[in-house]
Amino acid sequence: MIVFDLEWNSGLYDPIRMDEILQIGAVKVRAPGGPIVDSFNAYIRPKVHKRLSPAAAALPDLALYQDSHLDFPAAFAAFLAWCGEDRVFATWGNGDLSALLQNQAYWKLPGDLPKTYVDLQLAFGRVLGCSDNLSLEWAAEYCGVPDIFDPHNALADAVYTWMVGRLLTGEELEGAVREPGPFPKGAKALPRRMNPWQGPFDNADRALNNRGCRKGTCPKCGALNRVDRWYWGTDGYYYGHFACSGCGRAYILRLETMRDKSKKLWANTAVYRAVGQKKEDYLAAAEGQPIPCRSSRRRRRRRKARAG
Ligand SMILES: [Zn+2]
Repeated sequence: MIVFDLEWNSGLYDPIRMDEILQIGAVKVRAPGGPIVDSFNAYIRPKVHKRLSPAAAALPDLALYQDSHLDFPAAFAAFLAWCGEDRVFATWGNGDLSALLQNQAYWKLPGDLPKTYVDLQLAFGRVLGCSDNLSLEWAAEYCGVPDIFDPHNALADAVYTWMVGRLLTGEELEGAVREPGPFPKGAKALPRRMNPWQGPFDNADRALNNRGCRKGTCPKCGALNRVDRWYWGTDGYYYGHFACSGCGRAYILRLETMRDKSKKLWANTAVYRAVGQKKEDYLAAAEGQPIPCRSSRRRRRRRKARAG
């Protein structure tokens, strides 16, 4: 998961309506409650708006943006490269992914951003049973996070966001998945999920053999694993099983498929520890016939041919 924060200049006095991004700060985490494993920071020299809005003029690191050698296209490319395959984004509040999309569109930049994000402000407000408009500073203080960095530096705020967000459970995070804006008319939104939907696929067979769908990233150690067979569960999901190549833990990979309004097929996967109800679900499915994945079947055939 990528927890990120932005600083921007709303360009209050400019006919171009855009929140021009001045800094991208982010931290990478591997699992709910997990530690920060990497960080990203880019100060961005503004090129669109000539004047600063009062809020932007009050930012503590103004000189660092104005003296930066990075423009937005370079910073955005570096950010996406740093994110790698991780496409679960989380922010404090609802403005950041929209601003990122807005700046990407303005500069006409390539790169696929996720369609949803986890709103940690919303999740945290729900747990406390109060407004979902809590300030990050207030939440950090409430959680007893040491007051070390100045607020309104994107990297410091990303760190604080996770210091608060890491107290939330996976389920609480899942319940706060949001979309950056309304979906365009006519397009039916797929249900919100922690992981992005993959596809579209021509048929279920394609999805089951897709390398991305067969992939299970270990939530504990980050190792990349792939399942080589599926089982069809009576509950409508496909189930796979793997022992992590990095740490040996046993996991279940669950795949669900969904058709959107234009009948296109999409797939979504989730990794679970092989314990409790999830293990039972898998074992029930595994009583049926396995559905081997094509690549492994091909390999087996080749081996057989050589042996013969
Ligand atoms: Zn592992």
